[in-house]
Amino acid sequence: MASIIDGKAFAQGLREQIATEVSELKANHGLTPGLAVVLVGEDPASQVYVRNKAKQTEEVGMNSYEHRLDANTSREDLMALVNQLNNDDRVNGILVQLPLPTHLDDKEVINAINVEKDVDGFHILNVGRLSIGENSLVPCTPSGCIMMLKDQLGDLSGLNAVVVGRSNIVGKPMVQLLLNENCTVTVAHSRTKNLPDVCRGADILVAAVGRAEMIKGDWVKPGATVIDVGINRITTDEGKNKLVGDVEFATAEPVSGAITPVPGGVGPMTIACLLNNTLIAAKRQNNIS
Ligand code: NDP
Repeated sequence: MASIIDGKAFAQGLREQIATEVSELKANHGLTPGLAVVLVGEDPASQVYVRNKAKQTEEVGMNSYEHRLDANTSREDLMALVNQLNNDDRVNGILVQLPLPTHLDDKEVINAINVEKDVDGFHILNVGRLSIGENSLVPCTPSGCIMMLKDQLGDLSGLNAVVVGRSNIVGKPMVQLLLNENCTVTVAHSRTKNLPDVCRGADILVAAVGRAEMIKGDWVKPGATVIDVGINRITTDEGKNKLVGDVEFATAEPVSGAITPVPGGVGPMTIACLLNNTLIAAKRQNNIS
């Protein structure tokens, strides 16, 4: 039987730690970190994310600035807002909710954010800094995964890690973080041959694919630590909606040493890591160690 890695409890602990640091920053430096979230358009899922982000930002004692723009907002108007937030000292972190409507260029907008305020860690300079092991703002989801792995396993040095998925927001930064922890890392993707065998070599198996329950229990090395990033909505035989991961939990859980459930594993860590990045950004911008 695996230990179940409780991301919900871990995220709550992280938020409490952040709240304590925020109150110390206020008391000792008169500084209240601020996070600005920009949402363009009315995508329902994005609206829920933005609402949750704002709520949790305020709960840890930070200032939340929400900017909701019309779906037809022009490139010029959006860039002007980003520029205004870049120059606003009350704002330490800027997050532009992706994806943007198709007439806007995600990359151009992200790279217009001041790199020191890029709390999503998607700015090309933060990507580069992470890849050479320099201080960067690290994308939130992989950041949450590495925190849980270190908490579970301690030193990750020399462990074989397999990351299934090579997206810019999860797979690739996850690879860099594992490398920085001295793991031996294999990156698998849709062209990988004999994926089950590749996975069987993993002491740490990270699934970031977006395919419901693709990774089966007999792909998991006995005792491995399994981090399931996937969030897939399926309809059960009884016609009910259900969230499942990229790993088939029922068969993987008995084999693995530790595993994150879906929901309640990686998901809750993402916003907590966003708040953590905002705290880091606020301290760096004010030369507070
Ligand atoms: P992407 O679709 O951007 O990337 C998926 C990756 O999986 C690609 O690299 C793709 O390979 C690979 N892949 C697809 N099919 C296969 C296959 N059959 N075998 C092996 N590899 C395959 O997804 P994301 O990285 O954005 O997200 C992955 C999952 O994580 C999704 O379920 C998403 O919802 C979830 N997610 C969860 C978050 C959270 O907060 N918990 C945050 C972000 C994402 P190739 O490059 O060759 O196409």
